[in-house]
Amino acid sequence: MSDKPVYVTQPYLPPLDEFLPYLEQIWANKTLTNGGPMHQQLEQALCEYLGVEHIALFNNGTIALLTALQSLRVTGEVITTPYSFVATAHSLLWNGIKPVFVDIDPVTLNMDPARIEAAITPQTTAIMPVHCYGHPCDVAAIQKIADTYNLRVIYDAAHAFGVQDAGGSLLRHGDLSVLSFHATKVFNTFEGGAIVCPDAKTKQRINHLKNFGFVDEVTVIAPGINGKMSEINAAFGLLQLKHIDHALARRAAIDARYRAGLAGIKGIHVVEEAGQTVANHSYFPLLVEADYPLDRDALYQRLKDNNIFGRRYFYPLISNFPMYSGMTSAQRNNLPVANRIADKVLCLPIYPALDDQDIDRIIDVVRRG
Ligand SMILES: *Cc1c(COP(=O)(O)O)cnc(C)c1O
Repeated sequence: MSDKPVYVTQPYLPPLDEFLPYLEQIWANKTLTNGGPMHQQLEQALCEYLGVEHIALFNNGTIALLTALQSLRVTGEVITTPYSFVATAHSLLWNGIKPVFVDIDPVTLNMDPARIEAAITPQTTAIMPVHCYGHPCDVAAIQKIADTYNLRVIYDAAHAFGVQDAGGSLLRHGDLSVLSFHATKVFNTFEGGAIVCPDAKTKQRINHLKNFGFVDEVTVIAPGINGKMSEINAAFGLLQLKHIDHALARRAAIDARYRAGLAGIKGIHVVEEAGQTVANHSYFPLLVEADYPLDRDALYQRLKDNNIFGRRYFYPLISNFPMYSGMTSAQRNNLPVANRIADKVLCLPIYPALDDQDIDRIIDVVRRG
């Protein structure tokens, strides 16, 4: 095997010498964290880039999810999707909230709004959908249900950096949207995350909660957590933002090359992009159908044998992990679509440094079957 290994993603790292001036600034002003100048600049720059009003930065997306739930005082039961990264449901359990899983739509792979109402009980206080792969949820249908039943909506928007629909940023929907800036995501700060919120008052409460609940030196208003992003992470975010348009353009080109190259292969269904006017191509999911010569796991292994490391996002389903699998809503007969998709899905490598030769090699392995 002479080909170099290709992984599902590779973090985008700008040239190191471009980062040094940022470090010099941090060394000069000796503020390392607690909302220093880099932190303030990144919040402002991200608001402008994403086209949203208020952003609170975090040390990672999971703490941001936990804090989002705390900030709205969400309790009881929350309706969510099993087809996501485990942090979505873990953020509920960690807050003492019961996740109630509903099935996904077979085309968008996002929470099926038609299944939400039947899952609402007197204990339900919120809905936590995921814009899976950066593909927009049916935000209008979800908001309508939330308004009817007086529920909060918190989007896990970890995949949705930079995605827009016809009205602007996808992140403007719901009560809050939560981003992740983990190394594997489209935009990264090594580790990091953020909450997009609609008004200054909510952002202020979130700011207090992410700093132990401190309002001033002697006043603590809530049992907060340490969710602050450090200056070094914020500085890297500022640099990363300078390269993001280039990175997104390269992702779009890779997506297009895959779609052309994989077209017409019997049994390979490339998941469609729908509902966005600006996509981020954060993942490249395909479904391995029964009429493909190999099953999903065999194709996954075949690619591995060729030094190509895809990932089965999202398999296993969250609902099949042991801390959830005993729940009524986690039963397979409640989630037939999600269970079926989880057994067929495979995400191919996509990241800015992936070159055309590698893409063609990957297409070739899939085509040969
Ligand atoms: C990455 C991710 C998270 C967690 O974000 P971290 O920054 O890694 O804590 C949460 N939800 C989804 C859907 C994710 O993909």
